[in-house]
Amino acid sequence: MDRTDDIVIDPVTSWLADPDGQAVCAALVAQGHQALFVGGCVRNALLGLPDSDVDIATDALPEQTMQVAVNAGFKAVPTGIDHGTITVVANDKPYEITTFRRDVATDGRRAVVAFSKDIRDDALRRDFTMNALYATPEGRVVDPLAGLPDLQARRIRFIEDADARIREDYLRTLRFFRFFAWYAADQQGFDPVAVDVIARNLDGLGTLSAERIGQEMRKLLAAPDPSFALAGMRNTGVLNTILPGADDKQIGLIVHFEQALGLGTDWQTRLVALGGEDVPQKLRLSRVEAKSQDILRSALEQMTAPTEVAYRHGQQLGVSTLLLRSAIAEMPPTPQEIAQLEQAAQATFPVSAADLMPEVEGPALGARLKALEQKWIASGFVLKKSELLNLP
Ligand code: ATP
Ligand code: MG
Repeated sequence: MDRTDDIVIDPVTSWLADPDGQAVCAALVAQGHQALFVGGCVRNALLGLPDSDVDIATDALPEQTMQVAVNAGFKAVPTGIDHGTITVVANDKPYEITTFRRDVATDGRRAVVAFSKDIRDDALRRDFTMNALYATPEGRVVDPLAGLPDLQARRIRFIEDADARIREDYLRTLRFFRFFAWYAADQQGFDPVAVDVIARNLDGLGTLSAERIGQEMRKLLAAPDPSFALAGMRNTGVLNTILPGADDKQIGLIVHFEQALGLGTDWQTRLVALGGEDVPQKLRLSRVEAKSQDILRSALEQMTAPTEVAYRHGQQLGVSTLLLRSAIAEMPPTPQEIAQLEQAAQATFPVSAADLMPEVEGPALGARLKALEQKWIASGFVLKKSELLNLP
C-alpha cells in the first residue's frame, strides 16, 4: 500500500544507475532484508535537481548489515553504530546504511532511538514530508506518509505534529527555513502552523551547538534566493535569537544584483550583509571563514575600494565588497566594475625595494613602498614603474 508503483525515479539518475550502490543493496536484499534509498537523493531526483548525498535505509539490524556487507566482500565500518549507521565501502565509495529507527525519547537535541522493522516508523522520525520519501533499488518510490503531494507542490511541511517535531530537535527550525529557501515553490508562503510553532519555541534554539547552527546557516545562505526564508526567520524571531543584531534588509537587493550580473551565490557575502554580533563564534566559523568576514566588514567600514580588496585578497572578496557596497548605496554594480575586479586580482605591483635602494633605506623604505603602492592602486593599477619612481 505504501508502494507508489506509478512513480519511478528517472533510471539515468546517477545514484540509481550506480552499479556499486546497487551491489550494496543487492547484498542486503539477497539475505531477505529491505534496502531503500531515502531522503535528499530521492527528493532531489523527483524535483529534477542535482544529486545530494546518498543515504540508504534498511530493516537489517546494524550487526546484520555489517555481516552481509563483509560476506559480500565489501568493507564495512561502524561509523555511527549507536544510531544504527554502517558505512559500507564498495569500489572505494562510501555508502551510509542506517537501520529503520523510531524515536523513543528526546532531550531536544539528541533523539534516543530504537530500531524498527517498519518503514513507517522510520518515516515518522524524519523532519519534513518531502524528506520521508524512499526508493527501491529498482527506482520505485515508496511513500509511507503520503509526502508526495507536498513534494509536488514544493510545500515544506513538518511530519504530523509540528510542535512535537520541533521540541524533539530544535535544529529542525533552521532546517525548515533552509529547505524553504531551496525547495519551496515561488510565491509560496510559509505553512502557517509551522511558523506559529517556530515562533513559540525560540527558547529551544539556545540548546543548539554553534557548530550545528553554523552548518545550517551556511547551507541556507547558499540557496539561490534565501531572502524570503530570512524574512521569515526575522518575523518569527529566529534570526535575532541565533544572530543578535542581524538584519536581512539588504539580502533581497544583493540577490537581485547577483542574478542581474550572472554571478554565482556566495554565503559569505550574504552573511556580512546580515551583520550581527560575534558572528564567527555564534556560527563557529573556521579561521579562514572568519578572516574573510573580517576583511569584508572592515572594507565596508573603511570604504576600501573593491578593486583594492580584489588586489589584496582575490577576486571573490572584491566581488563581495562591490555587491555589499552597491546594496548599501542601492545602486546596481556594472559589468565593467566586475571586469575591473578580475584585472585588479591579477595585477602585480611593479616596484620593489631594490628599485628604491640605496637612496631610500630603513623604515623610510617600507613607508615609501606603501605610499607608491597606494598611488598605483588609486591609478587603477595603470601607473608604470618608471612613472611611479619619478613621483615626488
Ligand atoms: P541535503 O543532504 O541535500 O542537505 P538531506 O535531506 O539529505 O538534504 P540530510 O541532513 O543529509 O538532509 O539528512 C538526510 C535525511 O535524514 C533527511 O532527508 C531527513 O529525512 C533525515 N534527517 C536529517 N536530519 C534530521 C533531523 N534533524 N530531524 C529529522 N530528520 C532528519
Ligand atoms: Mg543528505
